[in-house]
Amino acid sequence: MKVTFYGAAREVTGSAHLAEFGENSILFDCGMFQGRRKESAKKNKQFPFKSDSVTDIILSHAHIDHAGRLPLITKEGFGGRIICTRATADICKYLLEDSARIQESDAAYLNYKTARGRLYKLNKVSNKNSKSAQRIREALKPVGQKLNLKAIDEVLYEHNLSKIKPLYDVEDVKRTLSGIEAYPYRYPIKIGKDAEVIFYEAGHVLGSAISVLRIKDNGVEKRVCYTGDLGRPDKPILRDPSLNFEEQDRNIDLLIMESTYGNRMHGQTEDIKIKLKKAVVSAYDQGGTLLIPAFAFGRTQELIYVLHQLYDEKAIPKLPIFLDSPLGAKLTKVFGDHPEVYDQEAHKTFLERGENPFSFKEIHFTKSVAESMELMREERPHIVISSSGMCEAGRILHHLRYKIHNRKNIILIVGYMAQNTFGRRLLDKGMEFENNGRIGEPPVLNFFNKSYPLLAKVVKIGGFSAHADKEELIGFLKKSNLNIKKIAVVHGEEESALSFTDTLKTDGYEAFTPRFKENLLI
Ligand SMILES: [Zn+2]
Repeated sequence: MKVTFYGAAREVTGSAHLAEFGENSILFDCGMFQGRRKESAKKNKQFPFKSDSVTDIILSHAHIDHAGRLPLITKEGFGGRIICTRATADICKYLLEDSARIQESDAAYLNYKTARGRLYKLNKVSNKNSKSAQRIREALKPVGQKLNLKAIDEVLYEHNLSKIKPLYDVEDVKRTLSGIEAYPYRYPIKIGKDAEVIFYEAGHVLGSAISVLRIKDNGVEKRVCYTGDLGRPDKPILRDPSLNFEEQDRNIDLLIMESTYGNRMHGQTEDIKIKLKKAVVSAYDQGGTLLIPAFAFGRTQELIYVLHQLYDEKAIPKLPIFLDSPLGAKLTKVFGDHPEVYDQEAHKTFLERGENPFSFKEIHFTKSVAESMELMREERPHIVISSSGMCEAGRILHHLRYKIHNRKNIILIVGYMAQNTFGRRLLDKGMEFENNGRIGEPPVLNFFNKSYPLLAKVVKIGGFSAHADKEELIGFLKKSNLNIKKIAVVHGEEESALSFTDTLKTDGYEAFTPRFKENLLI
């Protein structure tokens, strides 16, 4: 059998690993490359293998860096099955639709910029009021809140300018979804005549799975295990990453293992519940809003879950919670639909008492933009959870516009804020002001063409990460009942992947860090 690494090789995104044996060509994940725009766009455009020769896809979970190119491979002729867990299938529907919409609007914006560029040129070389310039100016005017796509298209065509097409659209997503086959965990799924795959819990996000591919290659039994992304033990809602594999899955010829935090530790785990409790009580006492930017998938539901627990325990005043994220609301419903994957604690705390952790009196899902606007002006103490997680776009920015300059409000940071994002500036400036005892002029943040003093209190809670850290990754190997022949370290920045490979070697494992398109025979 040949295994080739077509993504997430010495980087974090674009997961895609191809296992070829006999008549089978099985792809583990089909993820999108993310990061620097131009570079990723180039890598995403074309598969380095023949899309229509892939026979099946095994999908570890619904995150876009693992599932984001499924619609593209489908568009390019892949017609096999996409095999995943039931929860992953349900989450995929919304994340892939969302991804298609982002692709479409990104392409529309780039085309708008091309047309605008032509207008600037015309303004320079000819009369501003030339017919051409006027036509472009007309085409660039939005219709309502939206770009006039048809008019912009016509301008590009008339001026012989190249048009950017989205990687895929909502129709491609529909076709992709019809190819998905969803199964429970620990249920062997037949692939062709020589293979089976079985999913074990990965504890990373709802539906995430460790896959073990069982094959017969020229009469010889082989096992390839793919961790996908590994979660942390003792997280709310989800079961811990599986350590107990069935007897026939314990001898692994090749383990393809993630290494996002292969060279780092998460640090002291903070008690999320205690910190969240403190933030809610402060907001209540100050008569303010507790504003939480959060990713729509994962973080949002963990917050709702813990808040519900605190309400049931009567540990905090029952402030109304508003989830102001249309995508977040849909995904929260999916969480509610899949109690079969909850851990023991969730069963005890909620299900045994006949409660749905994600549906209770105090939680409200804002539906329309009008409702969201009304909420921004709400004066009574309340909690808002909204996206995007890094405050780069979305409704969270509008909430910040209304709340950031008032000292009675609290902005709670619960997620990773990447460099150069608005969320990172908010976090850094806010924490600096807090650490200096809020003395002197407050920091200023610029957005929506205005400057706002950051007077709301910024609080950070760590410990929400969905990825195992170095020690937990090693812990997974040591505590599980797997006997592993060889480990391919993927899904980590080069430094992290190489460092983790070294750690593994020191521990006596045979490990290596494949490069893009590198392959090995097992
Ligand atoms: Zn992930």
